[in-house]
Amino acid sequence: MQHDAAHKSQALPRFSVGLTGGIGSGKTTVANMFSRLGAAVIDTDAIAHQLSAAGGIAIAPIIAEFGDSFIDASGAMDRSRMRALVFSDANARKRLEAILHPLIRSETEGAAEQARGPYLIFVVPLLIESGDWKHRVNRVLAVDCDEQIQIQRVMQRNAMSESQVRAIMATQASRQQRLQAADDVILNDGDQAALAPQITQLHTRYLSFADLL
Ligand code: ADP
Repeated sequence: MQHDAAHKSQALPRFSVGLTGGIGSGKTTVANMFSRLGAAVIDTDAIAHQLSAAGGIAIAPIIAEFGDSFIDASGAMDRSRMRALVFSDANARKRLEAILHPLIRSETEGAAEQARGPYLIFVVPLLIESGDWKHRVNRVLAVDCDEQIQIQRVMQRNAMSESQVRAIMATQASRQQRLQAADDVILNDGDQAALAPQITQLHTRYLSFADLL
């Protein structure tokens, strides 16, 4: 019992930041820089991915709901098959989300409890779009980037065409919507050297907010 109480006291709410931005804006780059300064970074996309990878805890409920045919030979969810289904069938999308969302939430909370660091940064690509996240973090930090640069980066990183990148961007919040929802903004139009002072400044601010909590 005593051990439990001690464990719970460590899990008191900590100052947390939701880091978001469009595809290729530089979320991962920025998160890595905060991590090097000592912030605890939790990548919700990586958590979501692990759930439906081979051996992931979402695999059994996915089989129960959709059958074996949505699992590939490695035992992971067949992503392209599932994508095709949920793209054409809104009800199937809801059924998949009903499995994944609560699991993402509990796994994220588990990771947050275990994370060591003066404050938490949750990387949430669709934070603005999802609604729920805005209320779970103390501050929203948006990585902002000129759209042309964003497109160039993703074309290079993922070997995609401009129209493929634009199609993904069309499903995400606009630059303007993100800026409106953000408490803090990092402009990532330049190189890493241009990022460093912005990150150091925000880190200092977040440390002082964390102290006040
Ligand atoms: P996101 O996680 O938002 O999709 P990434 O951090 O992966 O974006 O950045 C997209 C691509 O652009 C990556 O290949 C990354 O290395 C590159 N990139 C991002 N920011 C910079 C920067 N300031 N200078 C140089 N390359 C960058």
